[in-house]
Parts: sequence; structure tokens; C-alpha cells
Amino acid sequence: MAGQVIDGKAFAAAVRARVAQGVARLREEHGVVPGLAVVLVGEDPASEVYVRNKGVQTVEAGMASFEHKLSAETSQADLLALIARLNADRSVHGILVQLPLPAHLNADLVINTIDPAKDVDGFHILNVGRLGTGQKAMVPCTPLGCLMMLRDHHGSLAGMHAVVVGRSNIVGKPMAQLLLGDSCTVTIAHSRTKDLASICRGADILVAAVGRAEMITGDMVKPGATVIDVGINRVERDGKARLVGDVDFASVSPVAGAITPVPGGVGPMTIACLLANTLTACCRAHGLPEPEGLTA
Ligand code: NDP
Repeated sequence: MAGQVIDGKAFAAAVRARVAQGVARLREEHGVVPGLAVVLVGEDPASEVYVRNKGVQTVEAGMASFEHKLSAETSQADLLALIARLNADRSVHGILVQLPLPAHLNADLVINTIDPAKDVDGFHILNVGRLGTGQKAMVPCTPLGCLMMLRDHHGSLAGMHAVVVGRSNIVGKPMAQLLLGDSCTVTIAHSRTKDLASICRGADILVAAVGRAEMITGDMVKPGATVIDVGINRVERDGKARLVGDVDFASVSPVAGAITPVPGGVGPMTIACLLANTLTACCRAHGLPEPEGLTA
């Protein structure tokens, strides 16, 4: 029997609805409107699409959206000055700098200039440290979305063996920290891991965040495991451009207990969690209770 397909699109819509409810309550009871500022440097078409989608969904959730589009030649000093202004702006509760930045800009310096309380991407070194030490942090959106889906599917994750394939700072490492925080036994695999297949076969929860089309195949998955596919890979099939994950859906779904598809799995959760993080940041800034179920 094929595993249950976890509908990330529907789940993300439910998260966005909960965020919108929280935003409406903040506005009615406290006169506060959460605001998200997105900074885009340059004209990368894919980044422009992401930024537009973020803006639309921010407004749909009832929040204020501030877009700052800067030319590809923007200097480091000018970008840092904009971030300083956004840090000081009380109508802005979340700041996101769209990555990648043009090569002449120091992305680490830019990210670490964002006020950690407004760092809704969770990439600031202080938030990375807080997550790693189990303190209240802003949590990166994609792994937060994966965690929400896993909690929804399993309830408690305690004692489960989770294998995360990929050790990037934006997905693999924070994903592993979050699973550890939920008391999983966590293995992190990467490009130098020996016998990846047998490590993956030991997983109750398998998270693939690699960027290699359909590399996780059915023979690498324990029967009944929950498989979360973070990968987004553009491939050509039968002369048509298609998006596929890091998981070979056709061979894995008959083995897995549950699986996220690509597209329509993890992807939609990322912006939903960005909105959730902006609401959380706003509540924290005003000393108000945080909405339940929208943070780690
Ligand atoms: P990175 O390229 O930063 O990291 C990839 C990781 O995969 C590295 O840790 C690398 O290991 C590991 N890896 C590479 N080859 C292998 C292999 N053969 N076996 C095991 N591990 C391997 O990618 P990201 O983490 O940024 O993204 C991963 C995927 O997730 C991409 O497809 C990306 O598009 C997608 N993504 C999706 C998002 C969403 O919203 N759904 C958001 C962010 C990313 P090593 O460290 O040793 O090099």
C-alpha cells in the first residue's frame, strides 16, 4: 500500500489562516499590525518571483509588507544603512534579505547586521546559537515547516531515529537541531558519508535536503518511515521542464508510511512559516503571548 501523501499546500494554507487570525486579534485587541520588510538586491528573476509571492501572502495575512528593491550595484555601506533604518523602524517586525546577494556583498555581515529579534529567516549568528543551545530563537522557515508537518503527523517525535541528509546552514543543520529539540535520535549525513543507503534505512524520519534529483530511492527507505523531501530540482522529462525533489517519489512512496511530494510538500510551508515568524517576532516585540503551534 502506498504511503500517505502529506499535503503541504493544504497544511500551509491552514498555517496561513492561523497566522491571519493571530494578526486580526493583534490589530483588534492591541492596535498592532505586524510588518515584514523584504530586501532584494539585483534582478535575479527567481528571487523576484519569491519576493513578489512573499509580499502578496504577507498582505493576505493582514500584515504590512515593505519591499525594498535595490540595484545590483548597491554598495555594502548603503545596504547596511538600509538595514540599520529597518532595525530602528517600529512598524517593521521582520526583516528578510533575499539570498543569494551579488558577489561583492558580504552576506554574513549583512545578515548579522539585522536585529536578531527581527531576523525572521533565523540566519543571524545569535539565533543559530540560541537554537543550538535550546533557547528561544527565530527558527529558519524551511526546517520549521518540516517540523510542523512532522509534529502534526506523529504527535510526539521523542525517541524516533531521524536521519537528515544535508548539512547546510539554512536547512540541514537547523533541521537536525529542531529534531534533537523534539528528542529524536539524530544522524546527519552529507557528501562524505559512507554507505548512505544503510544509514537512511535506519531512519524512522528521513529528511532529504541535498539538491540532487531523486537520489533517495525506495531501497534506501525503511518500510513505514516518514519521508520529508526538501529538495527542489529542475529537470527535463520528455522534453518538458519539471520540478522534482531529492526523493524518487515513484519508488519511495510504496515503501514509506508518509511522504511529502514535490511540488506541493515542503515548498509552500516556507513562506507560511515566514509569516508565522513575523507574527511571533511582533508578539515578542510587544511583550504579548505568542500564538500556539507556530513556533518550535
Ligand atoms: P546546499 O547545497 O547548501 O547543501 C546540500 C547538502 O547536501 C550539503 O550538506 C552536501 O554535503 C549534501 N550532499 C551533496 N551531495 C550529497 C550526496 N551525494 N550524498 C549525501 N549528501 C550530499 O543545499 P541547501 O541545503 O540550501 O538545499 C538543499 C535542497 O533543498 C536544494 O534542492 C534546495 O533547492 C532545496 N531547498 C528548498 C527549500 C524549500 O522551500 N522547499 C528551501 C531551501 C532549500 P557537503 O556539506 O558535504 O557538501
